[in-house]
Amino acid sequence: MIQIPKGCKDVLPSQAYLWQYVEAAAREVAAAYAFKEIRTPVFEHTELFARGVGDTTDIVNKEMYTFLDKGGRSVTLRPEGTAGVARAFIEHGLAGSALPFKAYYLISAFRYERPQAGRLREFHQFGCELYGAAGAFADAEVITLADAFLKRLGLKKVELRLNSIGCKRCRARYHEALKAYFAPHLGEMCEDCRSRYEKNPMRMLDCKAEGCKRLAAGAPRMLDYLCDDCRAHFEQVKALLSGAGVAYTVDPSIVRGLDYYSRTVFEFVSDAAGAQGTVLGGGRYDTLLEQMDSKPVPAVGFAAGMERLLLVMEAEGVLPASDMGAACYLAGMDDASRRRAFLLAQELRGAGIPCETDLMERSVKAQFKYADKTGARFVAVLGERELAEGAAEVKDLRASSSERVKFGELADYIKRRF
Ligand code: ATP
Ligand code: MG
Repeated sequence: MIQIPKGCKDVLPSQAYLWQYVEAAAREVAAAYAFKEIRTPVFEHTELFARGVGDTTDIVNKEMYTFLDKGGRSVTLRPEGTAGVARAFIEHGLAGSALPFKAYYLISAFRYERPQAGRLREFHQFGCELYGAAGAFADAEVITLADAFLKRLGLKKVELRLNSIGCKRCRARYHEALKAYFAPHLGEMCEDCRSRYEKNPMRMLDCKAEGCKRLAAGAPRMLDYLCDDCRAHFEQVKALLSGAGVAYTVDPSIVRGLDYYSRTVFEFVSDAAGAQGTVLGGGRYDTLLEQMDSKPVPAVGFAAGMERLLLVMEAEGVLPASDMGAACYLAGMDDASRRRAFLLAQELRGAGIPCETDLMERSVKAQFKYADKTGARFVAVLGERELAEGAAEVKDLRASSSERVKFGELADYIKRRF
């Protein structure tokens, strides 16, 4: 038997409503902030991610699904959404359109990781991108959007952690301080951290190895090295969030896993989903577009992991109860009434009422059982007598009551009660 690839998950019809629920919340909140959807390809030229995500990141170094296509070109399944959106923004000259550019995406993403709870090889993200605005209002808008999304899902125990990692200028000084701090301990650190030490020492703060984590806890803090502009920006973001009633904790250990961030970085974390605590992460990336050969365009955004969100929602007990079945199941007792039920179902669907009929020529008892199992609300039973009367016996499965309803009035009857 061929099985699903490791690290992937099927969403079965019985669970799909949960995904639709979270996706609908994402679309509604995005619309409230006037963000429009963008769709970009599932795969891109490998070079895009090497440059856009950064070649000192775990994603680019270890996690990419890269292959040669039949034309010998190296392509990669997108490991995240930002690089593709940035490419589209540049390619379509959107810097010349109305700014700020505000877009959201609901995508699958691919990373070759060791699968565990909340960590998959194919996973899904809801993300937002805001380009063109350099000031703190944009950071605050994106963070309040993320906060509104999580609140709309009913989550109460997800906490916002906020930090600033400064700009290129202030970070250079900070890197020196970090290197001075880590230098005597390099022997105790993991191989990755030894290479991060050379290429991008701040990434050492994001290491997940226990020993490195302990050392990182005592490292100098970026916040103590911010230049005046970066400090003022950070203060303004915090003030806007407080004013908007968005609670946060400043957490100097938040540096984010991607190379392109500057100034504001944030994560919404929860301990409800076990070790993989970050459900949503984002920040400002003012140098990303430049890195991709565009003129500089300031940018800020976030991405939320849908699988982790669903885990946290389950743990907090805020998943919607269950999917609803058809509004009406039309049961037939014999061939003639089955045929009438089949036609009646067509009429009801035309009137916007989800319904189904017996496709397996089963007994009425078996049809009731199916209607009940699939969560139908009403069962309309048709037999010889009902056909003669031109009316169905309509049973409300929730109220356990039943009523005679003329065929011609059935649509209105159900609409009024469903
Ligand atoms: P982590 O530190 O947990 O590996 P990350 O920094 O690599 O996360 P991002 O690139 O910021 O993650 O992606 C944004 C969000 O996407 C994460 O906060 C998480 O919710 C989700 N995510 C990332 N990688 C995976 C994965 N392999 N499986 C499921 N969800 C993921
Ligand atoms: Mg990761």
